[in-house]
Amino acid sequence: MANLKKPVRMCVFCRNRHEQKNLLRLKCENKKLVLYDGYNRSFYICCNCITLIDQYDIKKKYYRRIENTLCKQCKNKDNYIVELKEILTYVR
Ligand SMILES: [Zn+2]
Repeated sequence: MANLKKPVRMCVFCRNRHEQKNLLRLKCENKKLVLYDGYNRSFYICCNCITLIDQYDIKKKYYRRIENTLCKQCKNKDNYIVELKEILTYVR
């Protein structure tokens, strides 16, 4: 318990812990993926995974895993990777 100064959160995809400032915070609202606005349950994605998702052609094995994770977070089945890519384009 030495490192309590910087807030550290876990990425939902790779499950690695990162400083909060290096993570993108999202949530699911009405079964849509949106940027976190301070309300309700949220989850984090790290910059490594964002880079991976940002690639035009995500490797199949990652694609399935990312998709499954997002469906689990939203408790719904949808094309969340497309929504996530849209969010990433206007975040930068
Ligand atoms: Zn990650």
